[in-house]
Amino acid sequence: MALIVHKYGGTSMGSTERIRNVAKRVAKWARAGHQMIVVPSAMSGETNRLLGLAKELQPAQITPSVMRELDAIAATGEQVSVGLLSIALQAEGLQAVSYAGWQLPIATDSSFTKARIQQIDDVRVRADLDAGKVVVITGFQGVDDSGNITTLGRGGSDTSAVAVAAAMKAAECLIYTDVDGVYTTDPRVVPEARRLATISFEEMLEMASLGSKVLQIRSVEFAGKYRVKLRVLSSFTDWDIDIDEEARSGTLITFEEEANMEQAVVSGIAFNRDEAKVTILGVPDKPGVAFRILGPVAEANIDVDVIIQNVSHDGKTDFSFTVHRNDYQRTLDLLKTQIAPATGAREVTGDARICKVSIVGIGMKSHVGVAATMFRILSEEGINIQMISTSEIKTSVVIDEKYMELAVRALHRAFELDGEPARV
Ligand code: ADP
Ligand code: ASP
Ligand code: MG
Repeated sequence: MALIVHKYGGTSMGSTERIRNVAKRVAKWARAGHQMIVVPSAMSGETNRLLGLAKELQPAQITPSVMRELDAIAATGEQVSVGLLSIALQAEGLQAVSYAGWQLPIATDSSFTKARIQQIDDVRVRADLDAGKVVVITGFQGVDDSGNITTLGRGGSDTSAVAVAAAMKAAECLIYTDVDGVYTTDPRVVPEARRLATISFEEMLEMASLGSKVLQIRSVEFAGKYRVKLRVLSSFTDWDIDIDEEARSGTLITFEEEANMEQAVVSGIAFNRDEAKVTILGVPDKPGVAFRILGPVAEANIDVDVIIQNVSHDGKTDFSFTVHRNDYQRTLDLLKTQIAPATGAREVTGDARICKVSIVGIGMKSHVGVAATMFRILSEEGINIQMISTSEIKTSVVIDEKYMELAVRALHRAFELDGEPARV
């Protein structure tokens, strides 16, 4: 008997029929003798619907007090899900109880819409498990020191599940979703993408941080920090398939360094349409210039991703960086109204129609020329590279958004990742 955490995403919770299936699957695991905690997301489309309603009414300026309300609104989607799932489990003859984040509590900081989990109180959960109950806990949400409801950022239920698994020292955290594992790239964009039976923690971290939405990055970070055994698998198999077969299916995130030594140089391709590029032209090129540009950006709580500074001409240089598209307008305004006048820059421009495409692989550590191959393949497709960023196990390029699929497919083929069409 083990303590197991199951997480079900929005599509898996998408209708009462699907929730009934989730309940039957969980009941199968409970009857096999496991102690079960389930962390469901809101029903698919629900978080968008709720935030859409808020958008119709919200003022032009999104202040912290508006963000507080956005979190209170968005968190209700998961609250409905836990209640429905708990009832469905009871209909299966199990004892089940649901909790919202604030009820345990799941303590977070106060960064509305992107809060971080700080601590999870396990007292009630342990008591319920000991009493033989299945415990159903909301994903995506928590509560701050002042009792405000917070949310963890889009896709945050993955993080809730892994954090709960870490806090409870669960034997395994199973992330049930609408694909049957982690693929070499998004199988909805490249049908030839292949499922990986295992992926190293480092590679998963890069894939998630570079835009592969199958796991929220913080969930991978938690898994690494607390060594949570983490598996991504399908919720669309028949609920009554053999439990041992189910437990071995999908993709396991591995922590052993050697696990991927024999693997391809490039294990996967990630892409991200969520960024925008801003450029500040004709800035005097003297010490401290990067700080004078990026300091105020950081102070405004805007995350910066890829950065380039061009060679200078006549003591002036151009400086470009990318930010999340949600922060694009705010960043442009900040550059135009404050940073450009303060630094004596000539002009500020921006482009929201960009994307970032990245190749990821532990094998890149020991192979030279992988980035060069990537650049060659893109040039053969006539795709202009606007920015480049590298680390030991990834190379990312920023390109025009309209070439994204072309680039991903060409790279997927060239790095020999194509396989049988994926089942999605
Ligand atoms: P859930 O609602 O279950 O959390 P998400 O939509 O957040 O599901 O994540 C699953 C989706 O992630 C898949 O449907 C797929 O389109 C997308 N995805 C992106 N990159 C990958 C990848 N490398 N492997 C598998 N799925 C991926
Ligand atoms: N419901 C939230 C979202 O749509 C959290 C999640 O699904 O993980 O982003
Ligand atoms: Mg998700």
